[in-house]
Amino acid sequence: MCTKCSCTDHSLDPLFENNQRWIDGIISEDPEFFKKLAKQQNPEYFWIGCSDSRVPANEIMGLMPGEVFVHRNVANMVNSSDMNCLTVVQYAVEILKVKHIIVTGHYGCGGVKAAIEGNNPDMIEHWLRPIRKYYQRASKEMAQLTKQQQVDRLCEINVIEQVRNVCHIPAVRKAWEKGQHLEVHGLIFGIHDGRLQNLCTTIDNLADAEAFVMRED
Ligand SMILES: [Zn+2]
Repeated sequence: MCTKCSCTDHSLDPLFENNQRWIDGIISEDPEFFKKLAKQQNPEYFWIGCSDSRVPANEIMGLMPGEVFVHRNVANMVNSSDMNCLTVVQYAVEILKVKHIIVTGHYGCGGVKAAIEGNNPDMIEHWLRPIRKYYQRASKEMAQLTKQQQVDRLCEINVIEQVRNVCHIPAVRKAWEKGQHLEVHGLIFGIHDGRLQNLCTTIDNLADAEAFVMRED
């Protein structure tokens, strides 16, 4: 029921009922939770993930509100001309001073599949073009794989490439130049089993970032 006015919009009632149950559950554990949450956010982690509804950052990592700063888009992309992403990264690094940037892809990503298949609506095609390039560049490896394996391997490659792109972002490089503690990680999530895995591409300084950016995978 609307608590703001006397309108009769009930279409989202199940969500408001869920919200009330969620509030009750949290308060029963910690009556001061929302008072503390309202004072500040001080997250240690910054998640860059896919918009896919099956990959929610907090739930997967078992974190509460206030513990992870989040940016999501189709296929967890980090693009040097994306003002939204660059701004969120700068805010996370310079204002919140997060210690970990976690780029997380997921197996079976629809965006990655669409990049392989092509023939998408124009904006989607444009957005996914970098992934198509990774696919073409890995053509030798891809030729050995089944369709399903190709998608999953390209999901991993895409994460590694986006970690590389994060290492190019001025806010990240400046943080390393100043000696700020900042680690950039690449992870992949399995929708089929709920497991989060480390792709072991962690970078935490400028010299390693330079080497990683130049490295051919
Ligand atoms: Zn996805």
